[in-house]
Amino acid sequence: MAHLESPFRIVIVGGGVAGLVASGCLQKLGIDHVVLERHVEVAPALGAGIAMWPHGLRVLHQLGCLDAIKAASVPINRFQCRGADGRLIQDNELYTRVQENHGIGFYPLERRRFLQILYDALPDKSFIKTDANVEAVDQNANGVEVRLSNGDVEVGDMVLGCDGVHSVMRSLMWDYANKTSPGLIRTSEKTSLTTTFKSLLVVTPAIPELGHRDLITTYNKGFTFLATSQPNAVYLFVIFRNDQPFSWPKQEKFTDEDAETLAEIVADKPVTDQILFGEIWKRRIRASVISLEEGVMEHWHHGRIVLAGDAVHKLHPNLALGGNSAIEGVACLINCISQVIQDTKGPKPSGTALNMAFATYQKQQQQRMRELMNLSNLVAKAQTYATPAHKLFANWVLPLLDDRVFADWIGAYVAKATNLGSMPSEGFPSGRLSWSMVPEGEPVKDKKIKHEVGISIAI
Ligand SMILES: Cc1cc2nc3c(=O)[nH]c(=O)nc-3n(C[C@H](O)[C@H](O)[C@H](O)COP(=O)(O)OP(=O)(O)OC[C@H]3O[C@@H](n4cnc5c(N)ncnc54)[C@H](O)[C@@H]3O)c2cc1C
Repeated sequence: MAHLESPFRIVIVGGGVAGLVASGCLQKLGIDHVVLERHVEVAPALGAGIAMWPHGLRVLHQLGCLDAIKAASVPINRFQCRGADGRLIQDNELYTRVQENHGIGFYPLERRRFLQILYDALPDKSFIKTDANVEAVDQNANGVEVRLSNGDVEVGDMVLGCDGVHSVMRSLMWDYANKTSPGLIRTSEKTSLTTTFKSLLVVTPAIPELGHRDLITTYNKGFTFLATSQPNAVYLFVIFRNDQPFSWPKQEKFTDEDAETLAEIVADKPVTDQILFGEIWKRRIRASVISLEEGVMEHWHHGRIVLAGDAVHKLHPNLALGGNSAIEGVACLINCISQVIQDTKGPKPSGTALNMAFATYQKQQQQRMRELMNLSNLVAKAQTYATPAHKLFANWVLPLLDDRVFADWIGAYVAKATNLGSMPSEGFPSGRLSWSMVPEGEPVKDKKIKHEVGISIAI
């Protein structure tokens, strides 16, 4: 591991995608930290698949994970959209165009395997503590004390909340903001995390009718099938639009019976013109149901707490951008923190300096996340025929778009994603579109940001 040059220490809550990537980045930079993960295993058998776009892969290459991802996954080459009867509306080479644009394609793999790869690539595993459920945080003038449910306390200079969409850290940050800056966090922000969709997640062995490196979306009124195939597995999401959308803090919990009930509703629906969902369901290895929340928070940090990943920007999964966004966001934040450590004259950055770094991170990522959330939401509405206009868009407008147009459109977002600025990207492929990074560690000149920083500093 790199030499720990600074006594500065970050307590990271959550060891999922964002938390493990944060540890990888911090280990490369020699910044002390601990990752607290409530699960006993680093890669539990939860969820289904997760796919990586080139910008996520670019950061993972810097962390030494790319070869393992390529060994565990075959990039997608066919993109098909189908109507409710299973017949083709669109069949194109979108992902081949993605490969041409960025020099690397779109890699799906089992979520559990992905987390294991992130963990295995860490030079020093002792930074990760599992079975560590965080309950509370105290902030004082010098740092933070993070309390676990087993009574342990972790001390640091700041907390990075990577604890997912139901983030405890976000609630603790709001509580702290209420005490130190009453009125800053409003109910409109809290309820901006909305749930309009839920998903039945199904993992099966390979199914010939679904190809072996294809991505198939089958539109229906009120639900859509989204199947990603690999030579040894299929990750299938059945995404249902809820009759009654709701918002935070309401949360739905689902059982195995709920999975059976939802599967029964769509059992006789075609996923393609060759196979019905019920036939796929019979071959499942595992299945579960989850809510699909959406929202980008207004405040990403307060005091010495900063949030990353789903805790602060939660996207609909249809464009596979949530995990990739968590990765680029963590890289951006760590660039900002690393810069402030380098600029510090004394042993550690002050609370004010940290807040400036957090504000720079928020400024660089927030608008981008809002755009990606809106894009994913529009596609979700089109895929489930939310209105006649959405149906028209899905069935008639989208198929008119050339695969090159769509690849360039999404490629504009991909190419602007931040990577870990201080690390070389040598050996990472390049394509038609050049990587155009947002400038890192940009000095905070914007008055609005200064104002936000001013009222959020309480220590
Ligand atoms: C069906 C589905 C498909 C998806 N497909 C893709 C895809 O193809 N590509 C893509 O990029 N994204 C995809 N996503 C999104 C992606 O999974 C998330 O954006 C990503 O996992 C976010 O990472 P995270 O680290 O912020 O949160 P998580 O991965 O949820 O990790 C949060 C971690 O925090 C831990 N934790 C929570 N509370 C505490 C606590 N109090 N103390 C300690 N630990 C705690 C949890 O146990 C968990 O390990 C998909 C999402 C869904 C739902």
